This record gives sequence, structure tokens and C-alpha cells, in this order.
Amino acid sequence: MALLNRDDWYDIARDVDWTLKYVDRDEAFPEEWVGAKGIPLEAWEDWDEPFRVSYREYVMVQREKEAGVSAIREAMVRAKAYQQLDDGHKASTQLHMGTTCMVEQMAVTMQSRFSRFAPCARWRSLGAFGMLDEIRHAQLDMRFSHDLLNEDPRFDWCQKAFHTNEWGVLAVRNFFDDVMLNADCVEAALATSLTVEHGFTNIQFVAMASDAMEAGDVNFSSLLSSIQTDEARHAQLGFPTLDVVMKHDPKRAQQILDVSFWRAFRLFQTLTGTSMDYYTPVEKRKMSFKEFMLEWIIKHHERILRDYGLKKPWYWSQFEEALEHGHHAMHIGTWFWRPTLFWKPNAGVSKAERRWLNEKYPSWDDSWGVLWDEIIKNVNDGKMEKTYPETLPALCNITQLPLGSALDRHHLGCHQVVHEGRVYHFDSEVSKWIFELEPERYAGHMNVVDRFIAGQIQPMNLEGGLQWMSITPEVMGDDAYGYAWAQDYKDMRVAA
Ligand code: MN
Ligand code: MN
Repeated sequence: MALLNRDDWYDIARDVDWTLKYVDRDEAFPEEWVGAKGIPLEAWEDWDEPFRVSYREYVMVQREKEAGVSAIREAMVRAKAYQQLDDGHKASTQLHMGTTCMVEQMAVTMQSRFSRFAPCARWRSLGAFGMLDEIRHAQLDMRFSHDLLNEDPRFDWCQKAFHTNEWGVLAVRNFFDDVMLNADCVEAALATSLTVEHGFTNIQFVAMASDAMEAGDVNFSSLLSSIQTDEARHAQLGFPTLDVVMKHDPKRAQQILDVSFWRAFRLFQTLTGTSMDYYTPVEKRKMSFKEFMLEWIIKHHERILRDYGLKKPWYWSQFEEALEHGHHAMHIGTWFWRPTLFWKPNAGVSKAERRWLNEKYPSWDDSWGVLWDEIIKNVNDGKMEKTYPETLPALCNITQLPLGSALDRHHLGCHQVVHEGRVYHFDSEVSKWIFELEPERYAGHMNVVDRFIAGQIQPMNLEGGLQWMSITPEVMGDDAYGYAWAQDYKDMRVAA
């Protein structure tokens, strides 16, 4: 019996839909989940996926990918390769596992929602593959971390992190709860698939994979690259969705992209900006965070906007300013509040590292070096107590990141909104704008500091905060190199 070629049956198989007789369509596809917002059902007939895959092909390719990652993992674990790695780089892997594994698992839910509630049958078919992809990603992270549990208890946070109130994890969770779990299909496709998966994951999974390979972490690098091949495929479902939305409601498309671009950017500054420009050993760095953003994210985002007839976000000049500074702010902040982390950050400000930073960011010394000089002086004078925080920083009610962490010390501003008697604070004009677009969406939430002030965290001091965040002594953050880098500046003390 002759087998049909794929193209002979593909169109029938991907488009399995029928007319419902026993329930109303609105009952089977509630608007809250679909999110068509007035786009007529027929409009989705134009929705056409940019890649074709059958289940048989999918399984074949995925199986090969799994075998590849597995072989490398076994060889690396056997060779105890992890022990040879640089401590700064190790922090990047722990930060990744703790903040990403559960996001992969949340993506399973998002994709399964596509496969059940998306407004057209083709999209629902692809959702099933996306769901299988994301299950694989979460499992890969768990297996990688499980292998390394004996090396460092911090890998327990791969699973544990999202069950704690650690503030950085809460910032990640807040964003993805919003754009993956709380969003309807249409919004999730634009905010998550198009903006995060097709854009920003490149920086976590391509740039980091390349840095990890340079740093000798073949295992982590192969895991990241393998995941990225799936992201690059399933993220494409954002494009046909944008096509349809642009024909019927371009204003909505613009707003969803502008909101998610800023929020994703602030988060990746925190997670990847610090890893790339501070934790990766300086001689192993391929590109700075900014260079990679310009090359891989910004050019690409601008092209999408242009191709679809959208405008650059109104906040573009502020974004460019934040690209120069925000992740340096997040880095000095996270390092200073290091007891609140579950990884050991590398300060990354030895003389050689500083030369690199000033080369990549010409105003670094003026904006950040002066602040580090104070810390360095205190470390070298043995005044360690001055290098630790005593209180919590005020946090933004949108990004959950500290106020003042989007720009440098020359651009501090107060961004507030009073909504129904409550005062909300923001890290930037952009975050304030996001809140004001849909205040009911964000108003009920209390950030860590709101909870602290409300007395939900006891005792009301740093110790109480650490307990509330589930930070235990064996994972509590400290300087990755035990302050050895400060030796570079011993002469500063003599000169003074
Ligand atoms: Mn994924
Ligand atoms: Mn994905």
C-alpha cells in the first residue's frame, strides 16, 4: 500500500474542526480564554503557521535532540566537569535553573491553553507540539539540576524557587503569571510567543549558551541550545496571530507589544544582564549584554514592527538610556542585597573587569564605578557591615524591581500614581504608563515591601525578610570570590 506524501494529507490533519451542535460555541470557547475581542471567527481562517510539522516527524527530531543532550550530560557528569568551572559562571547556571525551570512548566499550561482554546484549529494543533516542547524543557532543567545536587544544594532551587517568596523569583513569577497564565490566547501569543520566546529567549539561550561553551560548561551550553531549537520553532505562532490582529485591531497589537517588550526587557536585564556582564569570566565574554541586545533583540524587534506597520514604542529613547544602565543598577543592587539571593553573585569589578566595562559602557565609571569605589573602600578597610543592607529597597508595583534600577544616578525620578486611595510606586515612566493602561489588572497586588509594611513579614527586619523568602544558610548569597578582587585596590587605601 502506497503511503501519501505529507503535503497530501497535512492540510486536512492540521485543520480538524467541526460545527458544534450540543453547546454554543461561546460556551466551548469562552471569550476570557480566547481573547478575540471582537475579531470575527472567519478572520482566523487566514491564520497560517509558518512551519509544518507532523507528529511522526516531531517525535523523530525530538528524540534525536534528547539523545544528543543526554550523551553530553552523561560524559560531563562522569568527568565531574562541574567542579572545574569558574565560580562566577556557576552562579549563572544556578540563577538560570531557579528562575527558568518553573517558567518552562508554566509555558506548558500556556501551550495547552492554545491547544484547547485558540480561535482556530491550526493554532490548536501547533499548541500540542508547543506543550510537548515545554514539558521537555522543564524536565531538562530538573535533570541537569538533579545531577548537580551533590555539588551544590543551590540546585535544589530549580524546583524549590517558585515555592518560595524570594524577591527576584517573585519578579519573574509576577511577569509570567501575567503574560502566560493570566493572558488570553491572543495576548499570550503576542506577549509571550512573539516578544519573549521569539525575541528575548535568544539572549538567555543563544548568548548564554555561547558564554557557557567558552567557560567550559559544555553540559549547560548543550541544554540551552537544545531548548532554543524548540523555542525558535513554536514561537513562530506569534506571527500569524499578529497578522490577524493587525487587520482588525492594530491599536491592541501595538499596546500588547509595547507593554511586554518593556517588562521582558527589565526582567532580562536582571537575569541575563548580570550573568553576561559580571558573572561570566571576563576573558570568556563574547559580547556585552548591550551588544547582544542591539544585534539580536533590538534589530529584530524593529524589523517586526516595521514589517507589520507598527510604530516604535513611545518610550524608545528611555529604553535606549535604560539599555546603557539598568542592568548595572540591578547588578550592584543584587550584589549589595546578596543575603537575599540563592546564588553567589560575582562582583565583577576587578581592575581588568572594570576596563572591560568602561570599554563597553563609556559612562560606567561615572555612573557605577563611583558607587563600587565606596564598597571597595569599605571591604578593604574591613568595614564589612557597611557593605550589607539593613532594610529592603522600595519596589516597583509593575516590575517588582527596586525603584531607581532602570537608569543611573543622574536620572533618578519619582513615578507615582494614586489609585483609589492607594499610592503605587514605579521604577520608570514606562512602568507607570503600563499601570495606568489597566489599573484594575495590577492594583490588587502587593509587592514584597507592601507586605512588609502591612506587617505580613515578621519580625520586621532583614532576618524576618530572609525567613519569609525561605533563604537558608546553605544557599544564602555571598560574594562568589570571597572579596579577593578587592585586593586589586589595596593601593587605593595606601594612597588615601
Ligand atoms: Mn521553553
Ligand atoms: Mn517556549
